[in-house]
Amino acid sequence: MNPDYHMHTPLCRHATGHPAEYAREALRKGLPEIGFADHNPMPAHFDSWRMEIDELPRYFELIQEAREATPELPIRLGLECDFIPGYEGWIEELAAMAPWDYLIGSVHYLSPGWAVDNPAYVGRYHDFPPAELWALYWSAAEKCARSRLFDFIAHPDLVKIFGSRPEGDLNRYYEPVIAALAECGGAFEINTAGLRKPVHELYPALEFLKLARQAGVPLVINSDAHAPEQVGMDFDAARALAREAGYETSLRFQLRERKEMAL
Ligand SMILES: [Zn+2]
Ligand SMILES: [Zn+2]
Repeated sequence: MNPDYHMHTPLCRHATGHPAEYAREALRKGLPEIGFADHNPMPAHFDSWRMEIDELPRYFELIQEAREATPELPIRLGLECDFIPGYEGWIEELAAMAPWDYLIGSVHYLSPGWAVDNPAYVGRYHDFPPAELWALYWSAAEKCARSRLFDFIAHPDLVKIFGSRPEGDLNRYYEPVIAALAECGGAFEINTAGLRKPVHELYPALEFLKLARQAGVPLVINSDAHAPEQVGMDFDAARALAREAGYETSLRFQLRERKEMAL
């Protein structure tokens, strides 16, 4: 079994369950290791779906409580950081605030106030031709991959969440991000949450995985759990897709060092 490194806590205001419950679920499912990666705080109040900066100590406490509840399970400390141009210095500040095991880079915001995965803005998908939407998203994802701020990038093709997709071969969107990850020694996750969203697919698509495999970019498999029962969810499907693309290993992280392990 693989670790699950992308799990949230109630501090993000849209996840439920104490981290100790996630840890117990991981033990039940036979996961060898887990890690929390809640949405990063910003220097000042920013939106309604992340902890405030003064809640960061509580985040560390919650993870410590989970470690105490399940001492037999290694629990890593991570953070899912929004990549927003102009906030690179803030990510560096955050990186120095704790002994993180890994930082995940995510693109949620396409423009100020518009998070691509927020159902409240699904109407905008009708105003935007899919090719424009995808161009915006993938150009931000490439910058995120090129920033070298993160150990891996989250849900690479999140922009497909509501089913919007341009015509034709989509590799033209994937290639610049994969090239950036290859050049910068980055990695990415297969995120099983896509199966629980309107698109009903894993992030990323098989074609992305095949290109990434050819480029030698490693991966992790994560659930993006926002509730305890989602820990390790659909990992069999994710491993099968990774193998179909030719992957035989995934990564483990500790104190921002990575090691390969058998899938
Ligand atoms: Zn995310
Ligand atoms: Zn997440």
